[in-house]
Amino acid sequence: MDFTETLKKLVELQATDSGLDELERLKKKFHQEAAALEATVHGLKGRIQEEKKALEDLVKQRKGLEIEAGAMESKISKYLGQQNEVKSNEQFAALKQEIEKSREEKAKAEERVLEFLFKEDEQKARTQKLNQDLAQAEKKTIEGKNDILQKVSDCDKAAQEKKGERQKQLAGLPEDFAQGYEQLRNSGKKIAVAEAREDHTCSGCHMNIPPQILNEVRKGIALQRCTCGRYLYIKD
Ligand SMILES: [Zn+2]
Repeated sequence: MDFTETLKKLVELQATDSGLDELERLKKKFHQEAAALEATVHGLKGRIQEEKKALEDLVKQRKGLEIEAGAMESKISKYLGQQNEVKSNEQFAALKQEIEKSREEKAKAEERVLEFLFKEDEQKARTQKLNQDLAQAEKKTIEGKNDILQKVSDCDKAAQEKKGERQKQLAGLPEDFAQGYEQLRNSGKKIAVAEAREDHTCSGCHMNIPPQILNEVRKGIALQRCTCGRYLYIKD
């Protein structure tokens, strides 16, 4: 086989493999997008749990204050009853003072109950907003994931075709070049057939191509490799 034809086939094989690499990259990106959608839902669920817990704490504190106010109310009733039974003015005055003190404490507790009710309302509104966000995020995730699954399936289909193409292209190459190419790819060099660029560098390793090699590639004397091992070609 003429080496120019071999080189042409190598370039075509590289194009197929680069296409496969791109499909892999796209698939990875799609999976990351799906993971990001799920992470948003997961994050919102976590925040809702936290807000619910905060609401429970507020309710608990408010109920404690209500019990406190109730206890004050009982105390006041008790003192009022005792006032009717006391014998001395001093005792009456002492009870009166206790009643006033209890009323003040009761009023304070009731005021704080109102503060907590207000905070609970705010807390409920926050949770409600988060629930709406969650519903939206879940909808978006379902739609997004359906879309992503379709795209991934399209990628798989395209990759399947390219793999068939690649096998034919590889079989059409002289054995030693097919092996050389595969070795480069297997060693992690995604670009096994690199362009010798106008600035004298190799598109694979970005290093300067030795002048003699570059000269031969340009003149089309023989199939050449860069010092990095990649096959070199000149773009038309
Ligand atoms: Zn190179």
